[in-house]
Amino acid sequence: MNADLHCHSTVSDGCLEPAALVRRAHANGAELLALTDHDELGGVAEAAGEAARLGMRFVPGVEISVSLGEDTTVHIVGLGVDPLDPALLVGLAKVRDGRRERAQRIAADFDRIGLHGTLEGAYRFASNPEMIGRAHFARHLVASGTMPDVNTVFDHYLARGKPGFVPHRGAGLAEAVDWIRGAGGIAVIAHPARYHRLSKAEFNRFVDDFIAAGGEAVEVVAGAHTLDEMLRFATLARRRGLLASRGSDFHSKTESAVDVGRCNPLPPDLAPVWSRPPFVG
Ligand code: AMP
Ligand code: MN
Ligand code: MN
Ligand code: MN
Repeated sequence: MNADLHCHSTVSDGCLEPAALVRRAHANGAELLALTDHDELGGVAEAAGEAARLGMRFVPGVEISVSLGEDTTVHIVGLGVDPLDPALLVGLAKVRDGRRERAQRIAADFDRIGLHGTLEGAYRFASNPEMIGRAHFARHLVASGTMPDVNTVFDHYLARGKPGFVPHRGAGLAEAVDWIRGAGGIAVIAHPARYHRLSKAEFNRFVDDFIAAGGEAVEVVAGAHTLDEMLRFATLARRRGLLASRGSDFHSKTESAVDVGRCNPLPPDLAPVWSRPPFVG
């Protein structure tokens, strides 16, 4: 099964509109797709409609920003959620809240180092102003000729310890898992290799808390994972009895390592997340 269960549209910080993203996934051979915009379900109706037109399986999804303690952010993907679930919608609105103010603080930080006009610049790239985020600032810095590409931007700016880094307060871990489960979905740890800021003990505690809260899956194949990392998180899935998910985390053709619908396969012994409800019966 060619499943891609993690990607972004212009509703958050992807560069393709939902329908265009679905067409690209389909053209790339995807058989099952989840749209997982950050903290926002506004794209799933359009995406679902386009997938139906193409005869491709589709599930609504979301990638929730979660704060662990004061200053660590992790991402929890919810798959197969009801996009009209009131508690989930209220929760996501709460997580989106604060992005505009954070954007002003990011721009003020850039002003201090002599990079002016970044707020207006970033908003030009944000189709959904409620979801203004670091990727939009990064695209502005590339478009304005300050930096050659988005990855280089994050090497110099916007990342922890660099100018333009302002943490965004996300949901609590148990809260996010509750919203997902309450909306009929499965909670998935997104791109676990990205959490190298956590010590081994902190990471294990995060996994314990995730499972205790009702989380059931982990991305074993993720756009950002190397082969070694994929094998490491396959071991984690086996040891902890987690379902395995697979997603490109596609944002755009020029910025993403893996194209939508072009993920590596999962190790065959793992139980894929799509072998369970709400994906089947
Ligand atoms: P935010 O939610 O505003 O903090 O922005 C997080 C988003 O920035 C991620 O979802 C990625 O799209 C992007 N991002 C973060 N770190 C990097 C990086 N090192 N390289 C490229 N994009 C990144
Ligand atoms: Mn993103
Ligand atoms: Mn993420
Ligand atoms: Mn993502």
